[in-house]
Amino acid sequence: MYDIVIIGAGITGAMLSWKLSRYRLKIAVLEKENDIAEGATMANSAIVHTGYDPEDGTLKAELNVKGAQQYEQICAQLHCAYKTVGAYIAACGAEEEEQLAVLAARADARGIPYRMLSRDEAIAEEPNLSEQVTRVLDFYTTAVIYPWEVADACMETACGNGAKLYLNAPCCGITKDSDGFTVETPAGSFRTRYIINAAGVHAEQIHNMVAKADWHATPRKGEYYVLDQDAQPIRHIIFPVPSKEKGKGVLAIPTVYGNTLIGPNSDFLDDPDDNGTTVDGLAYVRANISKTLQNIPLNRSIRTFAGIRPTTTCPDFIVTELPDVPHFIDAVSIESPGLASSPAIADKVIAILAESLTLTENPDAVMTRKAPVVLAALSDAERSALIAENPAYGRIICRCEKISEGEIVDCIRKPCGARTVKGVKKRVRPGMGRCQGGFCEPKVVHILARELGISPLEVVYDSPKSNILESDNRI
Ligand SMILES: Cc1cc2nc3c(=O)[nH]c(=O)nc-3n(C[C@H](O)[C@H](O)[C@H](O)COP(=O)(O)OP(=O)(O)OC[C@H]3O[C@@H](n4cnc5c(N)ncnc54)[C@H](O)[C@@H]3O)c2cc1C
Repeated sequence: MYDIVIIGAGITGAMLSWKLSRYRLKIAVLEKENDIAEGATMANSAIVHTGYDPEDGTLKAELNVKGAQQYEQICAQLHCAYKTVGAYIAACGAEEEEQLAVLAARADARGIPYRMLSRDEAIAEEPNLSEQVTRVLDFYTTAVIYPWEVADACMETACGNGAKLYLNAPCCGITKDSDGFTVETPAGSFRTRYIINAAGVHAEQIHNMVAKADWHATPRKGEYYVLDQDAQPIRHIIFPVPSKEKGKGVLAIPTVYGNTLIGPNSDFLDDPDDNGTTVDGLAYVRANISKTLQNIPLNRSIRTFAGIRPTTTCPDFIVTELPDVPHFIDAVSIESPGLASSPAIADKVIAILAESLTLTENPDAVMTRKAPVVLAALSDAERSALIAENPAYGRIICRCEKISEGEIVDCIRKPCGARTVKGVKKRVRPGMGRCQGGFCEPKVVHILARELGISPLEVVYDSPKSNILESDNRI
């Protein structure tokens, strides 16, 4: 019998498992996909919003501010990238400047630092601001992260403390009895005292297995361009002034690894799993970025991608125990700023659990993660010493991002390690560069096959049927 089953291993489930893993608890995390962070956590703007945007009185406002305040420390503890780049909210004209004043007042009330910049001051920092920009509100503590890395580090550390991660384990039924719940998956049944529903766009289905939801999923797609690392048109995140109709709007975001993201749009979806990019969506992004920025080299795009926001008919986060189903807790409707808020969402779930569950600290729990080897970050001397010890670190597999075989092997062998080509790409970045895997992917396939003891024909890109090699046609 588990104490807690968490359904969904996105940032909500992973952060919660990490925070819960400091207690003496039996925890299982069930994930329907063959890797963690395959939902909204995989494809987003990666911004640790400081918390000026959500409306007063919402859970989003409370948890965004509290979550963002914890991020830098968490990333330091788990050896994850955290880069403070600052966010410019660029107003075009008097009406939008009034909105900047509203955001500044909110920031004052929430203790979020900012400064107001004239057009000239802003242009000195960001020469590609458009002609229309008249004033800028600079939230200079805003940071960007690498979302999969944080989810992965949380999950890895939680598993190190005894949590169990079950991949390919979609929850397809829940029954409740006097002792607790039975969660059905094709990977087996799980008995548990508590359930946390962190299933993102599929959370309504999970909720409806125990009670009828009074909200509905309304997933919204957001599409992006990724620009090459040597095309860096901006240094800060550039936002338009947010509006009710367009939300946060189309942004430009410098990533932790020096690429630039341009996007997203916001389109409601019938199919919650439709994460393909579209001609119309990308055209919208191109048309709208020109409001705040000029000279954006979209011809330097190396990839496009789309993410799906787990929005619902409820405009706020829902983090609550179901009144009619005690011990079943929803952590749902976690749209933006869900990434930034995730540490505080986890705290709120833990506070709910603590009302009926005794949480005893485990003195042996280790809440930090050993820093992974990142060859590109080492000095020549450190690199030489490492290669002398293990020559695999001297074999560069991804020439764009300078990733060695040793780093790829590490990410496969570690707890909750990569099992797919995309899993390797998410963890150590081969295929993220200009050639998008054109050169390194075949080598990654062979390393995965060797490490997992399977045929290269069995290696998949991501989902179970996404095999890369069709047959062995060597004569
Ligand atoms: C375009 C876009 C931009 C965004 N930008 C930002 C940003 O800059 N900053 C920010 O703070 N937030 C941002 N967000 C929001 C943020 O990405 C989400 O709030 C967050 O990732 C939600 O995490 P989650 O774990 O709740 O959901 P998900 O990441 O979707 O995880 C849910 C998991 O549940 C699994 N699952 C589903 N059904 C089942 C089942 N039946 N059984 C088992 N597992 C199941 C899924 O496979 C998935 O892994 C953005 C989102 C999008 C889409």
